[in-house]
Amino acid sequence: MNLETIIGLEIHVQLKTNSKMFCSCDNRSELMPPNTAICPICLAHPGTLPVPNRAAVKFAITLGLALGCKINPRLKFDRKHYFYPDLPKGYQISQFDEPICADGSFALHIPGTKVDRDSLVVGIERAHLEEDSAKSFHSGSGETLIDFNRGGSPLVEIVTRPDFRTPLEAKTFLQELRLLVRALGISDGDMEKGHMRCDANISLRPMGETELYVKTEVKNINSFRAVERALQFEIARQTKLWEAETPPDVGTTRGWNDVEQTTVLQRKKEAMHDYRYFPEPDIPPFDVSELVREARSALPELPSAHRLRFQTEYGFAATDAAQLIENEDVAAFAEHVISEFYEWVSSTDADADPEAARAKAAKLVSGWLLSKYMGALSELGRLFTPETITAENFAEFLTLIYQSKINSTTAQTLLRKMIEHGTGPQHILESEQLEGASTEDVSVWIEEAIAESPKQVEQFCTGKTAVLQFLVGLVMKKSRGTADPLDLADRIREKLHKMIKTQKKIFKIPRF
Ligand SMILES: [Zn+2]
Repeated sequence: MNLETIIGLEIHVQLKTNSKMFCSCDNRSELMPPNTAICPICLAHPGTLPVPNRAAVKFAITLGLALGCKINPRLKFDRKHYFYPDLPKGYQISQFDEPICADGSFALHIPGTKVDRDSLVVGIERAHLEEDSAKSFHSGSGETLIDFNRGGSPLVEIVTRPDFRTPLEAKTFLQELRLLVRALGISDGDMEKGHMRCDANISLRPMGETELYVKTEVKNINSFRAVERALQFEIARQTKLWEAETPPDVGTTRGWNDVEQTTVLQRKKEAMHDYRYFPEPDIPPFDVSELVREARSALPELPSAHRLRFQTEYGFAATDAAQLIENEDVAAFAEHVISEFYEWVSSTDADADPEAARAKAAKLVSGWLLSKYMGALSELGRLFTPETITAENFAEFLTLIYQSKINSTTAQTLLRKMIEHGTGPQHILESEQLEGASTEDVSVWIEEAIAESPKQVEQFCTGKTAVLQFLVGLVMKKSRGTADPLDLADRIREKLHKMIKTQKKIFKIPRF
């Protein structure tokens, strides 16, 4: 049976404001002892009144703008009633019929597809402001303990339209959303820490139909990997039901079990919950047009634009640009390094061609920053900081490679030393006597080695390319180990091929 998958997401994003949504309690209470960031307002003592947090409202507007939403200048809150110990008021202050952001559309590039052509446009149904509930802990002995620190923290709930067709698309949207909230500075977006919590709605339908069938809601998804796995599991489960001609006929909620890698039935949704919504009488609607203007003018460069700029301005490959902007510190460092690199090249070589340096900068940065430097840091179990090696020193290091003053073996050793000592490359080269053989010296040795080995050269020309290793060894000996063996093989091969071309009459041309 040819089935199509329909997925929509509901994502709660925790906003990183200083204080909570409706009181002045500390909102950075993650690491504080339980029940210490609390007050009569967030504990719902009688006679207390909520006061909306201006920063939280502005953050929600900022996120709505970045998701291409229309912003409602009239801010209205509603009470959503349900009874549970983690909700001291017996209701949650949320937004019902007038969400602050609605009708958005957000273009998303799915990895493995061509940029520009295959962007998926994700519809954003709404994004509204609300307060978080407290955290419950269920002990093994049947007790439930509650920490009210999180109760009353500001949240934005984003509801997408059912526009995703594969688990990968849903996961990519969440990853892009994390980048987005980080770039906007409104949340850390860490799924494992609960800064971003996702529920996914999924249903299948015969290919070609436009009707939406009964959906299943999957909860308890705590990582990007879990999103993909949970949805894959549901597709397989629901496909079997369709093939047995018993597709889901009643909406259900299922929880993802990350250990068992399965979804488990939690409850059947026979009827819509009756939350008895009504307008929050303690916060009459008010106008936020001024905040919308402020948020709009302060909107920073969004990740998609950032990625594109790295490709067009510096010539980075799409995957490298994506990897660089994953971490804002790394992206800023790369830009700083590139501008310093131009400075170094032009100040150390008056005849340098600025266009050639420009063309090479992205290659050097992706090879040495993204691959070698990041690789070395992760081997050492260290995180990237802009201070470990300064942008100036890193640019000087790239200049030495660019100008062939050091070979790649020396460069790798030098990079390690720079991480260890935090000093400039020149200083380390001098003090540790790391300086490798210069390109000119290596050229002379290659010529000598070829001249000294007529027998091997002849063998090479008859197709016995294995003798290349002999010549590499000879040059290594002449350089006393300072040459770069990987580089040497290429250079000797190139040199021999040139000789063959120019001396056709002397050598027989082998077929290779
Ligand atoms: Zn409070």
